[in-house]
Amino acid sequence: MAAKRDYYDVLGIDRSASEEDIKKAYRKLAVKFHPDKNPDNKQAEENFKEATEAYEVLGDEQRRRLYDQFGHEGVASGAGGFQGFRSAADFEDLFGGFSDVFGSEFFESFFGFGDIFGRTRTGGRRERVIRGSDIRYDINLTLEEAAFGKKVELKLEREESCNDCSGTGARAGSSPVTCDQCGGTGQVTRTQGFFTIASTCPTCRGSGRVIKDLCPTCRGNGTTPKSRKIMLDVDPGIEDGTVLRLRGEGNAGTKGGRRGDLIVVVHQKQHRTFLRQGKDVLCEVPVSVYQAILGVDIKVPTLDGKMVKINIPPGTQSGRTFRLKKEGIPYLKRWGKGDQLVKIIVRIPKNLSSGEKKLLQQIRNEVQGTDTPELLPVSKFE
Ligand SMILES: [Zn+2]
Ligand SMILES: [Zn+2]
Repeated sequence: MAAKRDYYDVLGIDRSASEEDIKKAYRKLAVKFHPDKNPDNKQAEENFKEATEAYEVLGDEQRRRLYDQFGHEGVASGAGGFQGFRSAADFEDLFGGFSDVFGSEFFESFFGFGDIFGRTRTGGRRERVIRGSDIRYDINLTLEEAAFGKKVELKLEREESCNDCSGTGARAGSSPVTCDQCGGTGQVTRTQGFFTIASTCPTCRGSGRVIKDLCPTCRGNGTTPKSRKIMLDVDPGIEDGTVLRLRGEGNAGTKGGRRGDLIVVVHQKQHRTFLRQGKDVLCEVPVSVYQAILGVDIKVPTLDGKMVKINIPPGTQSGRTFRLKKEGIPYLKRWGKGDQLVKIIVRIPKNLSSGEKKLLQQIRNEVQGTDTPELLPVSKFE
């Protein structure tokens, strides 16, 4: 294992740095190396972890003192990793109002606790509130709907705050009582070597209070599932695989925690005749070999249902593509549209009537072909 870097070096501060300086330094690094901003960047993730670990120690007065005195030895956690994260409330303090940069899901996956932002202080004491979970909802749009927008009704079942107990989880008329195990602090401490590690109380799971008389409606959860309809306005030009986050439309939180989000994943069904290529749509139109040779006017449907005339000039080769300007997909949230590409496919007849055969033989005799054709240069390949 590589030698651990000095925590002060990691945060780029000197040993006399104030609490505020430490916070500032960490914030800056956390924003810089945030994994969401550095997708698939292992180094950034390592830097982020390193900075967080350093902050975890230096941001805590007691642990900082131990570190100053004994170095890394003094603050090594027996459990390893970030399990012994000392005080979630300090994170709330640090990242409160910061949740757009640091989603709580992120912290959940990163450190194993997601309720950091849900914590509030009530009456000077920490009350454990839990943010509601997110709900995923998949919608399937036709190409036309994706192109021109659609109002979609989302029907879902989600957790709503329980009416009978106002979300407290305690039977109406009763209220939660102070937890015996932690005496209401929400934390239990154990001594390891010469210092003390605090961890979340297992009995009240950090709330400091336990409900003795559960609300019969929600069985103490504080929330009950209810059916909801939500109208979603899908913008014209949306793409397959787009993920829309409807803030606060997920499950209700408990004990006053904020709501989760509704995550809408947009899928676009394949169209029978139009292939989407970004903002353009491609279609293929067959014409007979005679039409291709002599030229023809054809009418082609567009995505919005119009018919548009295209002049196929004499001698058009199979595979030639015509561009119908601005008949494609509107740009998302901005002015403009893609094009429709019309690819001409020349059909060679297979079953000829004897009359056709005769005529074609006549034509062939007119045109002196050769049975040893010259090979085409590569630059002429279609
Ligand atoms: Zn209830
Ligand atoms: Zn407790």
